[in-house]
Amino acid sequence: MPEALPPGGWRDDAELTRLCAVLGGGEGARFVGGAVRDSLLGLPVKDVDVATIHHPQEVMHRLKEAGIRAVPTGLAHGTVTAILPMGPIEITTLRHDVATDGRHATVAFASDWQEDAARRDFTMNALYADPMTGALHDYFGGSADLAAARVRFIGDARARIDEDHLRILRYFRFLARFGHADAASSDYAACVAKAATMMALSRERVADELVKLLGTADPVPALRLMVEGHIFAPILPEAGMDGVDRVAALIAREREMGETPDGLLRLIALLPAEAEPADKVAARLKLSNKVRARIATALGEKVEGDVRALAYRLGVRGALDRIALGRALTPAEAGLLADWTVPRLPVGGGDLIARGLTAGPEVAQTLRALEDKWIAAGYPGREDALALADQLLER
Ligand code: ATP
Ligand code: MG
Repeated sequence: MPEALPPGGWRDDAELTRLCAVLGGGEGARFVGGAVRDSLLGLPVKDVDVATIHHPQEVMHRLKEAGIRAVPTGLAHGTVTAILPMGPIEITTLRHDVATDGRHATVAFASDWQEDAARRDFTMNALYADPMTGALHDYFGGSADLAAARVRFIGDARARIDEDHLRILRYFRFLARFGHADAASSDYAACVAKAATMMALSRERVADELVKLLGTADPVPALRLMVEGHIFAPILPEAGMDGVDRVAALIAREREMGETPDGLLRLIALLPAEAEPADKVAARLKLSNKVRARIATALGEKVEGDVRALAYRLGVRGALDRIALGRALTPAEAGLLADWTVPRLPVGGGDLIARGLTAGPEVAQTLRALEDKWIAAGYPGREDALALADQLLER
């Protein structure tokens, strides 16, 4: 593990360096959290967070003076967002927790870096780096833990979970991303012992964290530990080893196809394999209507026909989901979908009425029969579709 934040990439951004200088350099502002952790591992960095000793009003003032656009995104929590060419940078005043109840924390501003570090969840997430020199400030041995792929709570794991029950799921998410699944670890034992406390969490937060966990490159070892430790019991009791096996199979196919992880699709694989029970779980997790529709389509009734027929009936997303959950998409199928726009039946009820049908259920019925013929004929244009309608009506 490097001793300091390596240069290059986002670290060399001139505007970011100027922003940190405006906040007083390494004494006034430091990089923290995911950006430091991921840089040390040589991984790409998504967003850069800055911690600062200055109160948010002072941050606003300094940025304004320096002509840097600042948005007071969460003044009460101490967060100001600086808008830089590289993207938004969250600048958060050092804090410590004054009260916690497992779901919310009341925070106060602090002036001590170590206090700010102590309220973070895992040692690898509490690494700070001097923005000017890259020097690390590591109060809890996070660098060594990161090197050893050890996800370790700061302080007493049980007490930290009592402060915020979501940390159980965060533990498994970071385990999936950076750690070795270790059933003998005392932090794992704390998660197992405290799993029931997650019942108090909002379903939205649970679902959000679960999808993030499932979206990591390989969540399977973490998921197996979760099932073994009955971690799902209070939040998703339907998730068992069979679900994890389906996720594992899905991931194997994703890899074969060179696809990027899709946390939601993996959640669908983890859910009960039929539409109705899966939808009940989805409702309980308060998943959005859009996501619930995706689940219903992916697990719904069987559709006959080739990949285009599937896409016509279920939409392209639905067709791909359905295939991915069962087997790999063949190159030929991928070719059939590439640059293909799902067509619409070019004949309507009016055309059938013009041909002598009476408005009513018969029209809808005939349209459905016509649609089947039209799909089987390879989605021909209006003229041929009308000829198919004539054939159908002669019978
Ligand atoms: P990611 O790459 O997934 O965004 P991250 O480390 O940036 O990883 P975030 O969830 O964005 O994770 O949180 C940013 C930082 O805030 C964490 O690194 C951690 O220090 C702290 N943090 C976030 N959530 C919690 C929590 N529930 N309890 C304690 N500290 C937390
Ligand atoms: Mg982050």
